[in-house]
Amino acid sequence: MRRAAERGQPVRAVGSGHSFTDIACTDGVMVDLSGMDRLLAADPATGLVTAEAGITLRALGPLLAARGLALENQGDIDAQALAGALATATHGTGARFPNLSARVVGMRLVTAAGEVVALSADSEPEGLLAARVSLGALGIASTVTVRCVPLYTLHRHDDPRPLGETLDRLDELVDGNDHFELFVFPYTQTAATRTTRRSDAEPRPTPSWRRRLQEDVVENRVLDLICRAGRRLPRAVPRLNRLMVSAMSESHVEDRAYRVYATERKVRFTEMEYAIPRRHARGAVERVLALVERRRLPILFPLELRFAAADDAFLSTAHGRETCYIAVHQYAKMEFESYFRGVEAIMEDYEGRPHWGKRHYQAAATLRDRYPEWERFRAVRARLDPDGVFANDYTRRVLG
Ligand SMILES: Cc1cc2nc3c(=O)[nH]c(=O)nc-3n(C[C@H](O)[C@H](O)[C@H](O)COP(=O)(O)OP(=O)(O)OC[C@H]3O[C@@H](n4cnc5c(N)ncnc54)[C@H](O)[C@@H]3O)c2cc1C
Repeated sequence: MRRAAERGQPVRAVGSGHSFTDIACTDGVMVDLSGMDRLLAADPATGLVTAEAGITLRALGPLLAARGLALENQGDIDAQALAGALATATHGTGARFPNLSARVVGMRLVTAAGEVVALSADSEPEGLLAARVSLGALGIASTVTVRCVPLYTLHRHDDPRPLGETLDRLDELVDGNDHFELFVFPYTQTAATRTTRRSDAEPRPTPSWRRRLQEDVVENRVLDLICRAGRRLPRAVPRLNRLMVSAMSESHVEDRAYRVYATERKVRFTEMEYAIPRRHARGAVERVLALVERRRLPILFPLELRFAAADDAFLSTAHGRETCYIAVHQYAKMEFESYFRGVEAIMEDYEGRPHWGKRHYQAAATLRDRYPEWERFRAVRARLDPDGVFANDYTRRVLG
């Protein structure tokens, strides 16, 4: 950091490079922390775990399990570095569970001046509330302390259901299950529901061949074939979606949580995701489906609905409100902008906040009113990085 400062070079830390935006990119010095991947301390009595910031969630899972601990919740991949996941407010689903960053109680940050600052609720409460979701704009996190929970088992039940009935019961399904997630395919009347229950039961892992058959063959290879066909024949997309949905069946997985949350994603896609107040979930989904069908957009991927509790990190997408996340995807080699811009226009009506690591077209001028603590974040940033050493094109656009 000191050498970069002497040369006047900008700096960005990078995690696993799994953001869909240019959030981690720089023309200056890129600091790759993948070699900083050790678990430094874990206390099963308090659940407090300190790890180096570059450790991936995938590597963290078994290390925690060996100590009888687990992350409270996770998203649907685990390739992210711990600090990378936190920086964009990465989340899973579950109305009672906030984003990963909400469980961060301490962080060591290397600042633009090359100093190490320890952030905690006691020593630097304002700094911690900013750094929990930092967009990489405050400094380089070198270690992170997270509050974990006792190791648990997840029972996941995937079940394709009629869309209307599922939307009618949305609140009951979200509140009545530990984790609830919904995949809605345009041009069909089907919702693929994913309901997951937590327990202390001993895991009964699905044989790996069967899980591979389900996730690799059905969710990846079949999807890949259908996407290729849809790219060549966009007008066939409604029929292809109906075909895909008709091939879906009920399935169960029961295993330790860290082995259940993440699934294999082999078909390349791009994504936008908006956080909106939970009460607007149904209305927003119906409007996005109507947009796709009215414009006959060739969208082969489902809308994905997830839910999270409110939290207090200044730039968390779930700051201060119970949140529904609505994600839209497009196959990697197909046009996505007209779809994503149309969806973004709908989300504007619900004070939508875009996921910091996924595509969007917002800028500081449109974002600042959606974050009540925007100015408090800016004040911390001005203090820790007065010369904008950690700025890049993305932060200039979204933070100003
Ligand atoms: C297939 C796929 C599935 C996904 N699923 C989910 C999901 O289920 N839920 C969800 O919320 N998101 C999801 N995402 C988005 C992803 O979780 C975020 O974009 C996440 O930030 C990526 O982590 P990363 O380690 O790759 O970070 P990068 O993309 O490398 O960087 C992200 C940010 O973190 C900062 N950063 C990295 N390391 C440090 C550090 N040590 N100190 C300070 N700043 C740092 C970078 O500067 C940058 O600002 C998914 C992405 C993909 C590609």
